[in-house]
Amino acid sequence: RAKARGRDRSELFDEEMRAEAMRLLDLEADLRRAIQRDAFEPHFQPIVRLCDGAVVGHEALLRWHHELHGPLPPSEFIGVGEDSGLIEQVDWLMYRHVVEWMTLHHDGYVSINVSPRHFHADDFAERLLLMLDEAGADPRRLRIEITEVALLDDAPRALRILSTLRSQGVLALLDDFGTGFSALSYLHRFPIEALKIDQSFVAGLEGDMHAESLALVRAILALAGTLGIETIGEGVESEQQRQLLGELGCNYGQGFLFGRPQPAVGAPPPQPHSPARKRRKARKPA
Ligand code: C2E
Ligand code: MG
Ligand code: MG
Ligand code: MG
Repeated sequence: RAKARGRDRSELFDEEMRAEAMRLLDLEADLRRAIQRDAFEPHFQPIVRLCDGAVVGHEALLRWHHELHGPLPPSEFIGVGEDSGLIEQVDWLMYRHVVEWMTLHHDGYVSINVSPRHFHADDFAERLLLMLDEAGADPRRLRIEITEVALLDDAPRALRILSTLRSQGVLALLDDFGTGFSALSYLHRFPIEALKIDQSFVAGLEGDMHAESLALVRAILALAGTLGIETIGEGVESEQQRQLLGELGCNYGQGFLFGRPQPAVGAPPPQPHSPARKRRKARKPA
């Protein structure tokens, strides 16, 4: 009996695996089509100075307007995009929208997310600088967000890429800081403008993990202070978090408290013929 049950379970497992594999294949095919018609759009979320609430910049966050499922956040498709290598093409479409936005909006900086593999792709820096140049956008207003993995993958190469970009004014932010290696020995070797303290620590400033999160945030802020690197708290949702981060000496904050990621004002919908979009529009009174 045990044997039979075991087999049933493994058959069920096979079935689930097959269904998941099919879903991912479908998603990859959808992603290819989406690249062809550029179904991507940046949403922008403000980054504010904690001492006075001034908006200093925005992070550009990728959204895919899927034909059937509507706008999808990166968590739904970034895995497939990275495994298939399609993420680079998606990113370049995304960056083009962002650069275009830069030429229309003249306040503050905008940061783009770059996956580690993409960061190390040939000519990444040159291509980005060329795109800015061709659009007539000021490189000093663009920042890239990378994670620690991107630095540690191939440190000498990462340093070259960051230096090339920095020489033209494109500064680097270290995203999700505290979740990776956070090795002290390498941090000072790279030109990093700011650390983005991962939202898990900011969330932890309230609730059960209070003491631990507080200690970690303090340590990160002390480290950044010593190295002369600025700090941005991610995922700030409450007034209490904002206040605490400010008191601890964090320079900037980003999160729902200050504003959710929003499409650019006046941006044309990326997919005017999408049935999902039409349906949604039809429901709204004109
Ligand atoms: P990230 O760069 O750490 O971006 C911050 C994420 O936190 C965003 O999720 C944002 O919507 C969310 N967020 C902002 N404020 C709050 C808050 O107060 N509370 C909570 N709970 N969440 C908040 P999103 O937009 O789903 O992006 C997820 C990740 O996808 C990003 O994490 C980034 O790693 C990646 N990503 C985003 N855009 C791009 C892109 O253009 N290219 C690539 N390669 N990756 C991207
Ligand atoms: Mg980011
Ligand atoms: Mg982050
Ligand atoms: Mg993140």
